[in-house]
Amino acid sequence: MKYILPALQFKEDALEPVISRKTINYHYGKHTKAYFDNLNKLIENSSLNGRELEEIIINGEGAIFNNAAQAWNHIFYFEQFAGEKNSKLQGSLRTSIERNFGSEIAFKELFIREGINIFGSGWVWLSTDVEGNLQIDKCHNADNPILKKRIPLLTFDVWEHAYYLDYQNLRAEHLSALWMILNWSIIEKRYNERTIFSDRCF
Ligand code: MN
Repeated sequence: MKYILPALQFKEDALEPVISRKTINYHYGKHTKAYFDNLNKLIENSSLNGRELEEIIINGEGAIFNNAAQAWNHIFYFEQFAGEKNSKLQGSLRTSIERNFGSEIAFKELFIREGINIFGSGWVWLSTDVEGNLQIDKCHNADNPILKKRIPLLTFDVWEHAYYLDYQNLRAEHLSALWMILNWSIIEKRYNERTIFSDRCF
């Protein structure tokens, strides 16, 4: 089986000026593609060949885990920026964010702070359990809340390759700007489909 990098659901310059065409070109076209290429080579002689990426993340080790998890994380990351302009946090997800974090603003501030606090490369996540209880997870390198049997909803990539061309060392500025291009309706859909995700993966 071949693991295939899905096409972006938007044009390379659609996220400007928050994420430049140049960054998309490198981040999606080179970094993300390399994770898929590496995975396809590494998995050839593995018993995990042909399994879903989530199964490889849960059961894989070393370079196979790293490349499968990075492939999954990046598909998930790019997908959340596609679609409607100016979508708003609403519905059951808004209710849960307000219950768990106080307000939308308080949630965003904490999420950004946790992203800044990751030392080195990694990902900051919003995840949920099946009951809908939210939390923010700080993950290093390729790690993902799936490893803790939590369902990922939203993630910001804090590897320097995600922002260095546009923001240099200013990770906080990059994380603060990403909300402008976030499609909340995708995050809300993930939240509403958490039971399906859990049944499929855990
Ligand atoms: Mn990345």
